[in-house]
Amino acid sequence: MNAVSRYFKSLLLLELWQGLGVTLRYFFRPKFTINYPEEKTPKSPRFRGLHALRRYPNGEERCIACKLCEAVCPALAITIDSTQREDGTRRTTRYDIDLFKCIYCGFCEESCPVDSIVLTDVHEFHFEEREESVVNKAQLLALGDRYEEQIASNRRQDAAYR
Ligand code: SF4
Ligand code: SF4
Repeated sequence: MNAVSRYFKSLLLLELWQGLGVTLRYFFRPKFTINYPEEKTPKSPRFRGLHALRRYPNGEERCIACKLCEAVCPALAITIDSTQREDGTRRTTRYDIDLFKCIYCGFCEESCPVDSIVLTDVHEFHFEEREESVVNKAQLLALGDRYEEQIASNRRQDAAYR
């Protein structure tokens, strides 16, 4: 009986018609897929992407070289050297993050007492050379300057939960 049923199923292409029926049913339903990268899904204000160092509105860098972020980083991705300025404040002379080591856990951001190191919502970046994966202080500050509006807006949206 099974053999007869299989024979008629294959003769009448039943499974093919069933498959086309599913296609037809989903054809008129709302789409679950998007045309990335032209279309993008919404991102949470907590999204953890590329790092940046922020400045105060007067242009002064926020980082006070306390090295908490370096100490807390589970991947040992952050390297900081620091010095004391003439006015007695401490600043970094070197702030490197190895993005290949980083696991984007966000601990550095959470440990920072002055909201200096942050993870932006930028996730579309790439490297062409191995050494480009280490971003330095100047690059991080430039990223902070470039994305400050977005960073500040994300932090405002998430302020109630911090
Ligand atoms: S996100 Fe996590 S792993 Fe990456 S640098 Fe910060 S603390 Fe280290
Ligand atoms: S980024 Fe923040 S936690 Fe890291 S050294 Fe600077 S002030 Fe300290």
